[in-house]
Amino acid sequence: MKTKGVRTNKINIVTLGCSKNLVDSEVLFTQLKGNGMNVTHESKKDDANIVVINTCGFIDNAKEESINTILRYTDAKEAGIVDKVYVTGCLSHRYKDELEVEMPTVDAWFGTNELPRMLKTLRADYKHELVGERLLTTPAHFAYLKIAEGCDRPCSFCAIPLMRGGHVSRSMDELVTEAKSLARRGTKELILIAQDLTYYGLDIYKKRNLADLVNRLADVEGIDWIRLQYAYPSGFPMDVLDVMRERENVCNYLDMPLQTGSTEMLKLMRRGITRERTEELVQSIRERVPGITLRTTLIVGHPGETEAMFDETYNFVERMRFDRLGVFTYSHEDQTHSYSMPDDVPDDMKQERADELMELQQGISSELNQEKVGNTYKVLFDRKEGGYFIGRTEADSPEVDNEVLVPAQQYVRLGDFAHVNIDRTEEFDLYGNIVQPTV
Ligand code: SF4
Repeated sequence: MKTKGVRTNKINIVTLGCSKNLVDSEVLFTQLKGNGMNVTHESKKDDANIVVINTCGFIDNAKEESINTILRYTDAKEAGIVDKVYVTGCLSHRYKDELEVEMPTVDAWFGTNELPRMLKTLRADYKHELVGERLLTTPAHFAYLKIAEGCDRPCSFCAIPLMRGGHVSRSMDELVTEAKSLARRGTKELILIAQDLTYYGLDIYKKRNLADLVNRLADVEGIDWIRLQYAYPSGFPMDVLDVMRERENVCNYLDMPLQTGSTEMLKLMRRGITRERTEELVQSIRERVPGITLRTTLIVGHPGETEAMFDETYNFVERMRFDRLGVFTYSHEDQTHSYSMPDDVPDDMKQERADELMELQQGISSELNQEKVGNTYKVLFDRKEGGYFIGRTEADSPEVDNEVLVPAQQYVRLGDFAHVNIDRTEEFDLYGNIVQPTV
């Protein structure tokens, strides 16, 4: 480890939390590079003397991870290993006043919308000409495209609007420019993200405009896959499904967090939709885009969740047979609407309910995967690991969904597509052989 002396500044950006936070780190990274600075992202070498931690403040576990990461670097500062520790992101935005007192070793705290001030503190200028240009921290062949910031929804359990503010769409021209720039540098898959994709355009175009945006992005040369993540069920813009069905390079894939399968609980969560209406929506989505892959996430253990409500959710998952499912246990977040309710579901019961749903989903996923044996799929290869090249089909988003494993003897370049015939499956993974290399 380097001892204290005259050091050339090297900045290490550390990102916690979701893909939206990752995009913010990439924007910061691009600006610092644009200023000719020595900057790295998630360097394991610990050779940077300035550290910027982009935190998550969503739920308890995430907050704990953020605090521990800050402590790791403030300890390193006290040991003379780093000179400066800066903190930004959601946790900083939400608890800046308290944390400034509790963690005085941190040099400065920034909110989620303070890029110019942060750059100034790092002795860099905000380069307007870099808007729409983004260096990636993901493998070059896929990139997240954040189409909006913030959220106007009133979900009872959610602290995100407190940290990200109200919904603000980015202009279509700016997004298309960014997509073209990413495609020029080898991006083949664009993953559209926001707190709520379906709100896109309501503020700046006075109408839900996701379909038009997706259509324009689908015209960008070099983009083979466009994927939609974080759609909200109530007021869902059905016209985007026609674009999905008609455009070859728009994945038949939709991530739509539904949170619960109980109408009473949907009311408590202020989701603005009933279970019956949700089931109708799921059915019409499946009719409108045959073979679509549906991902959802649920929360168990919200205040007031009775055994009967949980059973409704369980039966809902059993009936709907989602292709992909994630389950969170409720986290009692201060300043949210639910915080005024007693957190009356014990933690072990929360966990028990989450485990029960994931066990159910494991069975469903296993059956659905079994049906894929013998079929051939277009696969985008992300990495090589443990004797396999590992990739994803159109039905799988990075980090959260299933993967396709091909023995490493069958060479494929990372970032390339190949056709793979599936010969074996497990709950969440598919195994196969390349039948047509690079497509
Ligand atoms: S839509 Fe998502 S981000 Fe917005 S309040 Fe609801 S849960 Fe939070």
